[in-house]
Amino acid sequence: MFHASIFTLYPDMFPGPLGASLSGDALARGVWALETRNIRDHGQGRHRAVDDTPAGGGPGMVIRADILAASLDAGIPDGDARPRLLMSPRGRPLTQARVRELAAGPGVVIVCGRFEGVDERVIEGRGLEEVSIGDYVLSGGEIPAMVLLDACVRLLPGVMGKLVSGSEESFENGLLEYPHYTRPREWEGRAIPDILLSGDHAKIEKWRRAESERLTRERRRDLLK
Ligand code: SAH
Repeated sequence: MFHASIFTLYPDMFPGPLGASLSGDALARGVWALETRNIRDHGQGRHRAVDDTPAGGGPGMVIRADILAASLDAGIPDGDARPRLLMSPRGRPLTQARVRELAAGPGVVIVCGRFEGVDERVIEGRGLEEVSIGDYVLSGGEIPAMVLLDACVRLLPGVMGKLVSGSEESFENGLLEYPHYTRPREWEGRAIPDILLSGDHAKIEKWRRAESERLTRERRRDLLK
């Protein structure tokens, strides 16, 4: 079973949106498991402090290496083979290919940063792999963790059935997906392209491929190598 362990200062945020729809049903059916650990349980003093001011000065606060490491060491069993990810705008951008790899494995350990981030030494010392969900900055790693988990969970066997077994979705074949239509046949003067109603599957396939290529060229030239 795909097992996700989340290290966060805000465990109440989970499962959040992951508790609804496909991922929520799959969670209830035991297709995947979600566990949260509050980093603050290992905080120091009366206020259970987890952060301190940045060495060298500057704004914000940094999550302490010793406290995050204590939380990880207490929460991850010896010999646990799951990748240990740190959500971070500095990380390697998440791709559908990486999502597929993760979904095929035993699960993930995810550390959610807050404030300015975490002490560099715990990233090195606990072998955390930094993963970004895009070139913008959010206030915490919880939403990025949910993004990553949602992308993985929908690929688990039995979650979406044959819907994603094909390789036609955006990014799966290096292209954006072709446009979709459904009833009614005409809406506000706009008709469904004739070819999609022709019943000629070879032609439909060709049209979809051409549309995929056109959209990718127009919107995401970077995907075309
Ligand atoms: N000072 C950091 C940003 C900290 S944002 C910097 O300039 O790189 C606070 C936390 O939010 C981060 O530790 C990370 O866990 C999360 N976060 C913010 N943006 C993210 C993104 N694009 N991808 C993944 N995690 C992100």
